[in-house]
Amino acid sequence: MEQGKGAIESGLRRIRIRRWVSYGLFVGWLPCGIAVSKVTSSGKIDMTLALVYMVAILISGVMVGFSICPRCKQYFFMGTYTNTFSAKCMNCGLPLSGE
Ligand SMILES: [Zn+2]
Repeated sequence: MEQGKGAIESGLRRIRIRRWVSYGLFVGWLPCGIAVSKVTSSGKIDMTLALVYMVAILISGVMVGFSICPRCKQYFFMGTYTNTFSAKCMNCGLPLSGE
């Protein structure tokens, strides 16, 4: 397995993208819900789309939480405790912004 600086940087970029997608889905929840309710008049469609959106938020959150650190190969945001807002690896201290 490649352990070079390029591999670490691409792994960190992947974690950053996952986290931003998760934040975007979370922040977009209310505007999307309002937009969908304005466009559709069926409560059934609203509920289905809300459920799909919630599953997407859940999946993106799990993908962030279980991100693997490109340097130490352990969970990036899980150490002694879990903190998905952490700016560095909870195990080896690798900064998310890069080395
Ligand atoms: Zn690490």
